[in-house]
Amino acid sequence: MAAKVDFVPDKITLLPDNIANQIAAGEVIQRPASAVKELLENAVDAGATEIKLIIADAGKSLIQVIDNGSGMSGTDARMSFERHATSKIKTIEDLFHIRTMGFRGEALASIAAVAQVELKTKTAEDETGVYIEVENSMVKKQEPVAAPMGTSIAMKNLFFNVPARRNFLKSNNAEMRHIVDEFTRVAMSFPEILFTLTANNQQLFHLETGSLKQRIVQLLGNNYNAKLVTVKEDTDYMNIYGFVGKPETAKKTRGDQYFFVNNRFIKSAYLNHAVMNAYQEMIPTDSFPMYVLFIDLDPTVVDVNVHPTKQEIKFEDEKIIYAFVQAAIKHALAQFSVTPTLDFDLDASIQQLSSVQQPFTQENRSAAAAGSIFKGFTQKNQAHFIEKSDRSDPIAIGLKHWKDFYESRESGVVSQDSTLTSIDPIQISDSRLKTIEDAELTQLLNTYITISSSNGFLLIHQQAAHERVLYEQLKAASKDKPVATQRSMFPVTLELAPADAAVLEEIMIDLQQLGYSIEPFGKNSFVIQGTPADVGPGNEKHIIDILLEQYKHFSNEVKFSKREKLVRSLARQQSIKSGVRLTEKEMRRLVMDLFACEQSNVTPDGNPTYLEFKQEQLEKMFRGPL
Ligand code: ADP
Ligand code: MG
Repeated sequence: MAAKVDFVPDKITLLPDNIANQIAAGEVIQRPASAVKELLENAVDAGATEIKLIIADAGKSLIQVIDNGSGMSGTDARMSFERHATSKIKTIEDLFHIRTMGFRGEALASIAAVAQVELKTKTAEDETGVYIEVENSMVKKQEPVAAPMGTSIAMKNLFFNVPARRNFLKSNNAEMRHIVDEFTRVAMSFPEILFTLTANNQQLFHLETGSLKQRIVQLLGNNYNAKLVTVKEDTDYMNIYGFVGKPETAKKTRGDQYFFVNNRFIKSAYLNHAVMNAYQEMIPTDSFPMYVLFIDLDPTVVDVNVHPTKQEIKFEDEKIIYAFVQAAIKHALAQFSVTPTLDFDLDASIQQLSSVQQPFTQENRSAAAAGSIFKGFTQKNQAHFIEKSDRSDPIAIGLKHWKDFYESRESGVVSQDSTLTSIDPIQISDSRLKTIEDAELTQLLNTYITISSSNGFLLIHQQAAHERVLYEQLKAASKDKPVATQRSMFPVTLELAPADAAVLEEIMIDLQQLGYSIEPFGKNSFVIQGTPADVGPGNEKHIIDILLEQYKHFSNEVKFSKREKLVRSLARQQSIKSGVRLTEKEMRRLVMDLFACEQSNVTPDGNPTYLEFKQEQLEKMFRGPL
């Protein structure tokens, strides 16, 4: 016989679905703005090109999103309100390749748990749409309805069944601010989608499709127009694209700062620090620069799964991202002469990391070698390397001048047309006399090139030197014969702010001679019909943007002609930058080009292109005067 056991009642019961859903919803839908974000993202994921957001009472009584995306079938529409119902991932593997904004399948289920929802949706294939009403996670009504393709989803009376949460909401002003923030973040990352926002029957935003720059100005205000510096760096590991404000636009309050990773808005104090660091000493310590930056990474190295509202994110290697962000911004600011110094080297320890080394593996090296900067060093009849009708290969000339110089010194006669007259005579007695052709070249700090002379060495600034080279080549080209234009198979249209359009009109004819074929195309629009051969397709808009910025920078210099300003802008823009590692071949080409110049010792701005260090000076520094 079994012993008598005291009866212990079971304590665990399963929560009814609607309560479980309400609890779970708390994580996803904290306030009206969270629902706005989820609904907008669903519309984006559905491939919509037009998205309308309608708000009443700061979202407390109505949040409606109308899109012209894919729509849903009747079954899918019903399914969409189930928890973990998603069309976006099927396997755990998919989770590591997320390209959509949503993937958890929680948003609609959460919304249906805490609001009264009315959904109207139709796919392209279906004749009629479907209308569904949901309340307390239960479908109340489902019927066919005439509807355009796409989805309209209205959520009414948020938290009507969770009074504690409803009471927790802030004032309408505060909640509306949160809504505008979320709207701004989504609209910012999809400038190719038309967005409108209407609140209490008043239209607050009507954002036509356009470039990112236009979207930024639409959202953050016209005062940023012409004050944005383009950031763009592409590597194998990651790409950065976007804009940062010129230092003078820095504000006393944090605010206009946006980071997006794979198009998803994120908050990262760490990356923010990287940006602040790049601005160091350019803005007051207690001010905040504007930035809108998009980082694209292979989704496998990002974990977006750490936070339900997905604003925080884990990178596989934060340090690399930090270094790249900082370097990209320093580079951008340097390019516009916003910053006086040009050091944007990566931290030595970071430089060692294999992922940073990646861009320099064999296949990437060949990809890089196909890029415009490198071609400029190694290929003829490119914009960087213009063959002049009346001269032979400038390389040969450079070499000749250099040899001439040594030879004439050797014979005791100073060459009259020497390109090296600006430096002190070099002693020729050294038997190890070398021409540039076989002189030893070393790159230091990815910025300088050293070349030994017979009695010391020259320290050449790679960017300054290349700017001089391009300047002379472009100057000759615009006078004698135009740079060859490569007509685009797919001409790119360019929409500019009115001020920029005026500038471009002004320089269009001159640009033509420099290889850019641009034609007006309606109000503030242009078509880029062709570019110099080394401007790769897809790059044209960016190049013109940078060019305009650079040109405007020179516009204060009244003493220059239009042509002069343009040539200077192009030379600076196209010059190889400090921080770029050069191969020996590239260094040699640059040095030979430099000494082929008519005035090789200074940049067009008058800064030195190289410094000479003589052995006797060096000895004095070590031992003092003898
Ligand atoms: P998730 O976006 O994480 O997949 P949601 O709960 O937000 O989860 O949406 C569930 C599913 O409903 C989506 O995967 C999608 O298939 C469908 N859906 C939601 N909103 C829309 C929409 N506006 N247009 C088309 N389909 C939608
Ligand atoms: Mg979603």
